[in-house]
Amino acid sequence: MAGMHRYMPNPGYLETRQAVAGTLAEESGLPFEGGDIVMTCGAAAAANVVLKTILNPGDEVIILAPYFFEYLFYIDNHGGVAIVANTTDRFRLDLSAIEQAITPRTRAIVVNSPNNPSGVVYSADEIVGLSDLLNRKQAEHGTEIFLISDEPYKRIIFDGMEFPQLLPSYDNSIIVTSHAKDLALPGERIGFIAINPNYPEKEELAGGFSFCNRTLGFVNAPALMQHVVRNLQGVSVDPDYYQRKRDFMYTALMEMGYDTVKPEGAFYLYPKAPIEDDVAFTKDLLQSNVLVVPGRGFGTPGYFRISYCVEDWVLEGAVEGLAKAVAA
Ligand code: PLP
Repeated sequence: MAGMHRYMPNPGYLETRQAVAGTLAEESGLPFEGGDIVMTCGAAAAANVVLKTILNPGDEVIILAPYFFEYLFYIDNHGGVAIVANTTDRFRLDLSAIEQAITPRTRAIVVNSPNNPSGVVYSADEIVGLSDLLNRKQAEHGTEIFLISDEPYKRIIFDGMEFPQLLPSYDNSIIVTSHAKDLALPGERIGFIAINPNYPEKEELAGGFSFCNRTLGFVNAPALMQHVVRNLQGVSVDPDYYQRKRDFMYTALMEMGYDTVKPEGAFYLYPKAPIEDDVAFTKDLLQSNVLVVPGRGFGTPGYFRISYCVEDWVLEGAVEGLAKAVAA
């Protein structure tokens, strides 16, 4: 195709943005258009572009523990201050903790469902509760609080559940996501930002995202991958592939006596460490060649994260080490 390697408009090819918008509109019932979409170098770039655009120095961004560790750096990159609110002991939304975290400086809250590391998927009721709280706090403080929905795992969801959409119940909302997980293309760096079509100043916001995509040095998402994903909207890896692995590991952990929440999506398990020191526990596991991440890195010491996005033989091999560690 002539010119396919040229520079392009910074938000990406219009045909690709229209394809993304079409699928989002079908799935959410919101009237997304191509202009509401900015193609990005994955969800990480999407989050950085959004934060660069909306934050003034000292603005606060609420994140929910356990959180994806890199949020701390993304927020810091753009002069923001991360404010951590805990979730419940089963990792559900804790609205009173979020309410306490909101101040007149709150500019955004980042919500990640299905969640890395807990595997929790927030229910429609939890989302409506959060939206009501944010609307009430905006009115109380006379501020604008963005809900940033980080949803790269939204198609990796189990037991026939449908993904509860976050945007329809709250207008000041933005999706940051990628095809790293649903199309298993993390190395290709392809994702997007989607602005809620009901956000009143969406054109201005889209202009800011386009500008920051360029000036942060991403310029635009990779051309070739934009052509690829244009035809793959709504397509996904088979979630059953991960569900089988979840079932295997969850059952094994329960039989061994670990305390863990049953994941509803993504590809992680987040059990309680049997000893208080999660770092020491992960070092114990390493002696048996089992590599997991201590909960401290996710803002919740005392837990550890297992990624079951690996071959079955790796999981089968890990069970022995996990059993040995819990017995010790
Ligand atoms: N957000 C969450 C919750 C993630 O788990 C990840 C990657 O693991 C990202 C964002 C970044 O994704 P990407 O590779 O698309 O930048």
